[in-house]
Amino acid sequence: MRSRREFLGGMAALGALGLPGCASLAGSGGEPGRIPRRSEVVIRNAYVMTMDPKLGDLPDADVHVRDGAIAAVGRSLDTAGAWDIDGRGMIVLPGLVETHWHMWNTLLRSMSGDKREHGYFPTALALGKAYLPSDMYQGTRLAAAEALNGGITFVHDWCHNIRSPQYAEENLRALRESGIRGRFSYGAAQGHPADQTVDLAGLERLWRSWAAYSNDGLLSLGLAWRGVSTGATGSVAAAAYKTDFDAARSLRIPISVHANNRKGSDAIALLAREKFLGKDVQVVHATWVSPEEIRALADNGCAVSLSPYTEMRIGFGFPPTGEFLAAGIPVGLSVDTTALSGNADMFAIMKAIQNIENGRANNEFKLPARRVLELATIEGARSMGMSDHIGSLTPGKRADLIMVNTRQVNIAVFSEPAHLLVEAAQPSNVDTVMVEGRILKSGGRLTALDTGRIADEASAALAALRQRAGWW
Ligand SMILES: [Zn+2]
Repeated sequence: MRSRREFLGGMAALGALGLPGCASLAGSGGEPGRIPRRSEVVIRNAYVMTMDPKLGDLPDADVHVRDGAIAAVGRSLDTAGAWDIDGRGMIVLPGLVETHWHMWNTLLRSMSGDKREHGYFPTALALGKAYLPSDMYQGTRLAAAEALNGGITFVHDWCHNIRSPQYAEENLRALRESGIRGRFSYGAAQGHPADQTVDLAGLERLWRSWAAYSNDGLLSLGLAWRGVSTGATGSVAAAAYKTDFDAARSLRIPISVHANNRKGSDAIALLAREKFLGKDVQVVHATWVSPEEIRALADNGCAVSLSPYTEMRIGFGFPPTGEFLAAGIPVGLSVDTTALSGNADMFAIMKAIQNIENGRANNEFKLPARRVLELATIEGARSMGMSDHIGSLTPGKRADLIMVNTRQVNIAVFSEPAHLLVEAAQPSNVDTVMVEGRILKSGGRLTALDTGRIADEASAALAALRQRAGWW
């Protein structure tokens, strides 16, 4: 059996991967923009939570990864030629699936202030207008690094500050360089006139040449649709939102829209009446939703994305998770924006979803930990139309997985694994992260991203941005 250190050393010698734990190499990231090669590995003797209902949990089991896919899971796998990773004390589970995140906003982390004029929407508008394309890169790169560090292997990047094609290019470059899997949903710019469509020519240009942007299929394209209203610029003209929607449908790309986040909102009813709902439509928030609207979402096959921390922090209210699940609607969990939530801790998001639901229901048993874990994995993947490829450790699916170290003080002792992950785990417990068979975090360190440099450069970009915007 070859050790993890030997394995990583071997990979570094091949020039494919930095060697974690070595001061001269750790976090150097190798060549900028280089992500590690796929590797053939077998994780040995871990507690494997496949999140596949047929396979279930496998204590003291192995996971064999080859050619970017899950080759096998089971006991004592015969894997000649694969590098061994010691999984003892680790929970191995599918990478966490995030379903709606304005990643460019991470440059504005914790900048939603305490007065109305400094709230999230005016802040995102004022600073978003002053963004340079390089700021899109900086914000998104920091967000992608945080995602991977915390075990998120799929993101839905809801990009609503595309001020020119270059803004989309720079945002996409950050996603590609990180090696993360995700959807890039193409949106309007902050302050975009409500009577105008998004830059549809820009969207179609990206769509035609998507092979150059997709990072060998890791990234897909969608529309970040404004729908019938936006937070900062009021109602979008019907002609504009219809044209945007029809463009996405004609390109056959999925559509995502924020709706019903305020009391009294009936946007979903309007979307249903005007035939804007469908299997290709994801609805974000929907904190204020009528039984008829829930039925319309279910009948039309829509998914929803819930971001409990931003929904509570901004005062939208509590996510009605139980109502959506009871209706059979695919539910995904999301970060939304770290301008409000502060961080992108998917373990905390799971815990909030469970605690809010049990609190609303006055019922200790309303939303079990195992069900919440499904929302962050297989169900989240289903909500993004990705469950044939990711979301469970099913042989044949892509090798997106994480290893959580249970031998740390906030998570030991090893008791009930689903409960530990939802109630006790935090990003610092994520030991290893793999996307498409590439090891992007190992031994608790990111392998391809220099986190110190990313933080420094993002801080410098924010300082310059505030200067340009006169925002203090
Ligand atoms: Zn949002």
